[in-house]
Amino acid sequence: KHLKKYFPIKAGLFNRVVGNVKAVDDVSISIRKGETFGLVGESGCGKSTFGRVVLKLQSATEGEVLFNGQDVHSLNNSELRKLREEMQIIFQDPFGSLNPRFLVKDIIGEPLRVHRHMSAKEIDDRVVELMQLVGLDPTRRNRYPHEFSGGQRQRIGIARAIALNPQFIVADEAVSALDVSVQSQVINLLMKLQKELGLTFLFIAHGLNVVRHISDRVGVMYLGKMVEVAETEELFAHPLHPYTAALLSAIPKPSPTRKRERIVLKGDVPSPANPPSGCRFHTRCPLAQEKCSQVEPLLEEVLPGRQVACHFPLLEGNELKNLQ
Ligand code: SF4
Ligand code: MG
Repeated sequence: KHLKKYFPIKAGLFNRVVGNVKAVDDVSISIRKGETFGLVGESGCGKSTFGRVVLKLQSATEGEVLFNGQDVHSLNNSELRKLREEMQIIFQDPFGSLNPRFLVKDIIGEPLRVHRHMSAKEIDDRVVELMQLVGLDPTRRNRYPHEFSGGQRQRIGIARAIALNPQFIVADEAVSALDVSVQSQVINLLMKLQKELGLTFLFIAHGLNVVRHISDRVGVMYLGKMVEVAETEELFAHPLHPYTAALLSAIPKPSPTRKRERIVLKGDVPSPANPPSGCRFHTRCPLAQEKCSQVEPLLEEVLPGRQVACHFPLLEGNELKNLQ
């Protein structure tokens, strides 16, 4: 709720704070138990920071993160430690996030050693079970991460993330570093685990095509703001925010009969240290009007289940193609 994460910019001889990078700037969303919420946006839009603040891997500048009704950011250390068992993260780089000098069984078993009073035998049994669950051969548990392929290493990271039976997992670009064919295998694994273990996912990716298959709903971020939230298929069938429409138009067309003109945005993403006034997208938006640079649009429900932050959303009569 109203989550903000600002990073101070320091400069000069006395290292004075001269401004803030507004990585996440007043974002409110709800993620439903058992769903996969896909979060997309270009790099630097704040989506990874959002995921890390939700897990309290970084503190929030302002706002609340309610997990089963408890504010994650107001917990003391021992309460937070307990909560850590329920909330886990899977990182982008499966090699960088696995200690190369640890055996795979020690990597997967580490959370069990830290959080549970289990004997070595019990931990080993659980590691075997976890490796089977994620499609790895448990007889290879006495090997090192570099002896596994990229996709297998990501499975090791997933096994570690589910070791404590969490309820909620943030997957931060979990498949972005993998080949396309391996990507879909890992996505299928995550979907299988979600069903079997009743998991809830925040699935972060920079491209819409990656989140489509796995997400129930999708949120689109631009420069620290959430600009659109919708059920996945509705978002793909009919984006309401011009930025979402531009992201979608960059995906190759699904069939020649459903033509979609590529919308090329002018300019680069502005700096989050000095975002444009009003609507942050107005410097690049093909629909921008005078109001857009003056008044900030709020994320509002404009149709049942469809939230958009835009003064002129792509509702009937306001299609992008009419303006190009
Ligand atoms: Fe474009 Fe204006 Fe909507 Fe922003 S508020 S997305 S500038 S039309
Ligand atoms: Mg990132």
